[in-house]
Amino acid sequence: MQAITIIGAGLAGYTVARELRKLDKTVTLTIITADDGGFYSKPMLSNAFAQNKPAAQLLTQTAGQMATQLDAKIVTGARVNGIDRVRNTVNTGAGHFEYGKLVIAVGAQPIRLAIDGDAADQVLSVNHLHDYAVFRSRLDLTQPGARVAILGAGLIGCEFADDLAGANHAVTLIDPNPLPLAALAAPALSHGLQAALTARGIALRLGTTAARIDRSAGGLRITLADNSAFETDIVLSAVGLRPDLALAQAAQLQTGRGIMVDATGQTSAPDIYALGDCAEYTVEGGTRILPYIAPLMTAARAIARTLTGQTTAIDLKPAPIIVKTPCYPLALMPPPLHAIDAGHWHSETGNERTICRFYDSQGIMLGFGVAPQEAGVRQALLASLGTADAMKPQQTNPI
Ligand SMILES: Cc1cc2nc3c(=O)[nH]c(=O)nc-3n(C[C@H](O)[C@H](O)[C@H](O)COP(=O)(O)OP(=O)(O)OC[C@H]3O[C@@H](n4cnc5c(N)ncnc54)[C@H](O)[C@@H]3O)c2cc1C
Repeated sequence: MQAITIIGAGLAGYTVARELRKLDKTVTLTIITADDGGFYSKPMLSNAFAQNKPAAQLLTQTAGQMATQLDAKIVTGARVNGIDRVRNTVNTGAGHFEYGKLVIAVGAQPIRLAIDGDAADQVLSVNHLHDYAVFRSRLDLTQPGARVAILGAGLIGCEFADDLAGANHAVTLIDPNPLPLAALAAPALSHGLQAALTARGIALRLGTTAARIDRSAGGLRITLADNSAFETDIVLSAVGLRPDLALAQAAQLQTGRGIMVDATGQTSAPDIYALGDCAEYTVEGGTRILPYIAPLMTAARAIARTLTGQTTAIDLKPAPIIVKTPCYPLALMPPPLHAIDAGHWHSETGNERTICRFYDSQGIMLGFGVAPQEAGVRQALLASLGTADAMKPQQTNPI
């Protein structure tokens, strides 16, 4: 079997490697990564402040331990800056590496908002363990109780807000939408989350954006688009991630919002695969970026089988997004974008739980959300997805 090289040592890269080793103990496996190759669970990054966990505690295995476990060569601190598809090599500052088959798992980059002001460059974002360590050290400088302004009340912004409030920091959450989680949740659940975050002591500045960030005597001064201003110690951006396409585009692989892959995870080049936050998967009815753990695990299993000669399609199943906001734990299955204008949300509250179902014009349930969420309710809703069974909620789900 041809030697396999993986670019990236995040959950996507390491999961392919693990799945591969379950199927083949002997193939030569090389992992090249720009970071230090330590293994950690990224979802922990927005849930670890309230538990006061330093970065070192989130690291579960070092690159050396991973190399032993995977029987792989792991090249750390080596950013791949080119893929030579004729010579089958990847190029790094540390030299060229040959590949037989290549897997790209380079993740995504935080989106940088264009903000004016002499402190606009002070905005932090947390997408890696190293970012988390930097952010924690900034918080430590202003203990106890730093003032943190978070840009973006989406999934990650709300999780950080709840977690930081749980660690006794004074949080302000800023978002141009009128409600938190506006892009993912039914309005009834967004209202519920807004109330819970407010009760947690978080200040919500909704319907506006940060226009300027300047240095001030007391730290940083944020001026919002509505011309109001306030002082903060730290600004954290959580406005989203963009798949990292630089390598793929330089190698002339087909890209859209992400690196385009077919049903097996193969890019437009034979012998090159992609998965994780950098990929744009082929799904029923089109293509989608899916920057979550469940799809990358499914993709990793399929790609590992394909790499070992058993061509396997990535069988992506609908998986609810679990929002890790302990003050109001949610599970969300947003309806497909194309269906939103032609459908409606039906919300019901009972037994201290709110369940929202999204129906298309034919009465088919295409999405849902629930808070507080728990596995049993989540699974029941998932089972009704794509059917008209849930049209009469009092019969199917008496709450
Ligand atoms: C705070 C936070 C909380 C989250 N919570 C959840 C959750 O609860 N549930 C869920 O499903 N998802 C969650 N996610 C999303 C999930 O964590 C990601 O989808 C997943 O971790 C992405 O893994 P990845 O390996 O594709 O990318 P990354 O983890 O970004 O890994 C990319 C790797 O590629 C390396 N790399 C990049 N460029 C190069 C290069 N040119 N050369 C060499 N190496 C390179 C990097 O060093 C890194 O090792 C969360 C994300 C964040 C940020």
